[in-house]
Amino acid sequence: MEAGDYYEILGVPRNAEEKEIKKAYRNLARKYHPDVCKEPGAEEKFKKINEAYSVLSDSQKRAQYDHLGHETYTSASKGSYSGTGGFHGGGFSADFSGFGDIFDFFGGGFSGSRQAGPQSGSDLLMKMQITLEEAVFGADREIEVNHTEACSHCNGTGSESKKLTKCPRCGGSGQMRQMSQTIFGQFVRMSTCTECRGRGSIPEKRCSECRGTGHTQVHRKVTVHIPAGIESGMRLRMEGYGEAGDYGAPNGDLFIEVYVRPHDRFRRSGDNLETDVEISPAQAVVGSVVDVETIEKRTVELTIPPGIQHNTALKIPGEGVRRRGRPGDLLVRIKVVIPRQPKSEVRSLYEKILELEGHRMPDSKKGFFSGFMGKK
Ligand SMILES: [Zn+2]
Ligand SMILES: [Zn+2]
Repeated sequence: MEAGDYYEILGVPRNAEEKEIKKAYRNLARKYHPDVCKEPGAEEKFKKINEAYSVLSDSQKRAQYDHLGHETYTSASKGSYSGTGGFHGGGFSADFSGFGDIFDFFGGGFSGSRQAGPQSGSDLLMKMQITLEEAVFGADREIEVNHTEACSHCNGTGSESKKLTKCPRCGGSGQMRQMSQTIFGQFVRMSTCTECRGRGSIPEKRCSECRGTGHTQVHRKVTVHIPAGIESGMRLRMEGYGEAGDYGAPNGDLFIEVYVRPHDRFRRSGDNLETDVEISPAQAVVGSVVDVETIEKRTVELTIPPGIQHNTALKIPGEGVRRRGRPGDLLVRIKVVIPRQPKSEVRSLYEKILELEGHRMPDSKKGFFSGFMGKK
């Protein structure tokens, strides 16, 4: 198994059933929940568990994950952007949305406990349309991202002198204790410090550029690597390309949800591509050789066997979606098209066939309805 494999993280076999995965996830999530587990690295572990579960609990994502393998699924390439400040790498990985499930047994308590100290930046979500060719071959696309980055004037500290001082209000804990006396006894309520907003420190002197926030709004071009084989609805994650975090905390991630535009000639079905080829009744009866253009715009000769039936699919191997391992196939669906107004020479040959088959011709004077009525 590869390092960090989702099955390994959850400790389940590759053929584990949905129930087994859910059970393993719940046990691990309970164990490593940051509100419960104080072991070092628990939060990181908890994130990994959620990441693994969000993929393996979704049958579609799980199939993609099994198919692509851990490496390809979670990472493809680095972005071309090099930022300053709290960026932690710049990789891509596929979608791990969904901390949703955690709430149903922790009763929503998770969201309430804002931890003291510098806060991570928020995630961003963008939608991107790509062509089928880009989905099949992969591509690099430049996108424009509007996000916050660390202020360059103060290095993200928010302080003109780049120095921070301990928050005088909370003494650096980021939290304030409020005591209240009630008939039930004395209560202590913890709340986020309003002076430093939980950071524990404040700028020595407010930065003149960012007015102490440590962040500036930037419009930036970023290159996104689209891995070959991507499908509509999948998300790419660009780690650290979301909103800037507080000084000393990581940035959020940028998620790019991909939508593959329909193609005018090719349809996709898993790793296979499908296209239509129209032939005449004569080609269907006698057999024929036709030229088929692949998605790579190469022309391939396809032999149509005699006696082929309408709507039969013929396979051109290896001309489908190229992904890790065996590429998909191109399925050519044969459409037999009946000529509406054949040339008189062709028509007389068809009349001859009709005669050989022993069928009667319609009476051209009577037409369809009178012929039908005449039977009564
Ligand atoms: Zn404070
Ligand atoms: Zn600044």
